[in-house]
Amino acid sequence: MSGRTPARACPERTCVGCRERAAKSDLLRIVAIEGACVPDPSGTLPGRGAYVHPALVCLDLAVRRRAFPRAFRAQGPLDTEALRRAVETVAEQATP
Ligand SMILES: [Zn+2]
Repeated sequence: MSGRTPARACPERTCVGCRERAAKSDLLRIVAIEGACVPDPSGTLPGRGAYVHPALVCLDLAVRRRAFPRAFRAQGPLDTEALRRAVETVAEQATP
């Protein structure tokens, strides 16, 4: 064990699903647009963002915890259907 701290040049975010910290590049940015959660893989969409692992387990956890409405300070429930489909696609591509 070197005892060195991780590189500073690697920004970390907390996954709203499993609540674990991970490199920003390992997480999928989500923004809320007109009552729906929209994936923002390029990280360019304006507004408040939430981060989640591109995995269905984390997405399910986040939905069950109502983490997205909380993260976006939304008044009502947010549609996560499009987001789920996007995560499914990413998860399939990530599987070797
Ligand atoms: Zn996670």
